[in-house]
Amino acid sequence: MPTVKDFSVEEKLSSLVKLQKIESKLDNIQVLKGELPIEVSDLEDEIEGLHARQNRIEEEINGMQQFIDQKKTIIKDSQELVKKYEKQSDNVKNNREFEAINKEMEMQTLEIKLAEKHIKDATEEIAEKAKQLELAKKAVATKEANLKGKKGELEKIIAETDKEEKHYNKLAGSATEHVDERLLISYKRIRNNYRNGLAVVPVERDSCGGCFNAIPPQKQSEIKQRKKIIVCENCGRILVDDELNNAVEIK
Ligand SMILES: [Zn+2]
Repeated sequence: MPTVKDFSVEEKLSSLVKLQKIESKLDNIQVLKGELPIEVSDLEDEIEGLHARQNRIEEEINGMQQFIDQKKTIIKDSQELVKKYEKQSDNVKNNREFEAINKEMEMQTLEIKLAEKHIKDATEEIAEKAKQLELAKKAVATKEANLKGKKGELEKIIAETDKEEKHYNKLAGSATEHVDERLLISYKRIRNNYRNGLAVVPVERDSCGGCFNAIPPQKQSEIKQRKKIIVCENCGRILVDDELNNAVEIK
């Protein structure tokens, strides 16, 4: 079996044209999908972010709820102490004892007031957080509906093109094996440079099929000889003659 190195320039060009035509078919399928794959993955990222935000707010609310519960316990304890001191004050023996109990009661009353203030503030904060949570939930619902629509569209296209795509991917795989390694590197580099993914183009109406720059007659005859790889001076694409280009058919 001959290796790629043994092939003539003509054979190398033919293999390259074949690969280009297969990959152009695959490019067309991608064009059909358009921005949908990116839009879907962007929406998925956004929804993930919103869910994380939602969880964070819920955790904050839980934390504040616990804080309120702690303060309620403090109030209950203080109220019991106040009751205890009230009873004690009925049986005081002297003025000094009366003042000491009074001081304790005052302290507990202040403790209760402070806890009540903390509860009020935390309750207001919870209400604010609940609003944020509601907004985050609404945003998630909107994005999810949007995602569902986009995913549906994309899945429809994929269902329609999947068989074709697999077929051409397989063809591209075997076509790649027949392309000269160095030529393949150039081909890929040029392909990446252009939105339409064309790296190998025919000479059409005396012009480069990629950038429509005029090709001088001398160069055109060199291209037709198929003795060396010739690139367009203007766009760098690999040029082949029309006949060689038309001879390659993809099924
Ligand atoms: Zn060109």
